[in-house]
Amino acid sequence: MSYPFLLEKVRTLQDASRRIADSPGKAAVIGGGLEILDEVDSPTAGSTRPDILIPIGQIPDTSYIHSRGDQLRLGAALTIAEIAESDAVRRLAWPLSEAAAAVGSPQIRAQGTLAGNLLQRPRCWYLRGGFSCHRSDGSDCPAVTGDHRYHAIFDGGPCWSVYHSDLGLALHALNAQLIILNPDGKEREMPVRDLYPDPKKDPLKFHTLQPGEINREIRLAGLSNRYTGTFLKITERGAFDFALASVAVVYNNFHGRFKNIQLFLGGVAPRAYTPEAVVKTLSHQKLDRSLLAAAASHAADVAAPLPENGYKMSIVKNLVRRALEVTYDKLSWKPD
Ligand SMILES: Cc1cc2nc3c(=O)[nH]c(=O)nc-3n(C[C@H](O)[C@H](O)[C@H](O)COP(=O)(O)OP(=O)(O)OC[C@H]3O[C@@H](n4cnc5c(N)ncnc54)[C@H](O)[C@@H]3O)c2cc1C
Repeated sequence: MSYPFLLEKVRTLQDASRRIADSPGKAAVIGGGLEILDEVDSPTAGSTRPDILIPIGQIPDTSYIHSRGDQLRLGAALTIAEIAESDAVRRLAWPLSEAAAAVGSPQIRAQGTLAGNLLQRPRCWYLRGGFSCHRSDGSDCPAVTGDHRYHAIFDGGPCWSVYHSDLGLALHALNAQLIILNPDGKEREMPVRDLYPDPKKDPLKFHTLQPGEINREIRLAGLSNRYTGTFLKITERGAFDFALASVAVVYNNFHGRFKNIQLFLGGVAPRAYTPEAVVKTLSHQKLDRSLLAAAASHAADVAAPLPENGYKMSIVKNLVRRALEVTYDKLSWKPD
């Protein structure tokens, strides 16, 4: 049986923010509804069952793509399809464009929004299936003795779920900022990298927004010919699937050397994960394609897989190597 709720339209984002702050746990914004309608129907660990849903896409000026110079500003209610189809995003934030095109199916991309994709809860089947776990009312992770073939190989325990948002991973590498509106009408800026709490410290929280806070915009400084990147994802099925492992990388050609390497993995740790050994091996070295394979071979050095998910280690090494090489080939100028 469906659970009843009220769909309440408001005129501005601040009205939405105030409404949510005035009704703690009762009201929430709805983007495409792919997540929140599930929560309304069958709430599971860490979710609430809101009675009032406020459609954010119907509020003016929430779905825009503004580019100026190398700056890009994205309205939080943009659909994933709008991001995938944008020339400005392709030109200035190539990894984000690739990540958007890799999300789910055309239907999911047409319905899901930018903010909704970032704020989806982890796709762990125990967490979402209502099992008692470290991130609900329990202390252990059922995946450890259960079916953990899709779970973490880095930083696992007590929670072994994996980072799941394709758009979020690209935005980590691009060092994007969230513009957040609070109920008083004030705004604050926070790196996307800080949106996800560490489940070791804060197991019951899935994001760091305060009650009533709304993500209004994502802002990023774009890439150039000398500063480029890529997003790649491996799935079990050819299409319509979450990542077994994904990678987003951005780096800079600084006077013929590797600089500002931003490398993040999805699908392999509870939060977006940087294999530091790879970054350390390459940083400040002369730009040389032949160094990339050796650096990538360190991508799983500190992996600690569970018995059934060690296969992800070789995926990670190959994926990192490909991403580094694809990025290298995109740099417009390379040393002889
Ligand atoms: C079959 C399937 C396949 C999928 N495959 C992938 C995949 O390959 N890769 C991937 O990354 N994802 C994938 N997803 C996840 C999907 O992209 C997300 O479920 C979707 O993007 C959520 O967006 P939404 O707008 O529908 O969220 P909603 O359900 O509308 O909202 C989700 C949450 O975010 C909150 N929220 C929404 N907007 C804001 C805002 N502006 N400020 C503050 N809070 C807000 C809501 O209150 C709610 O709590 C898949 C989902 C399905 C069902």
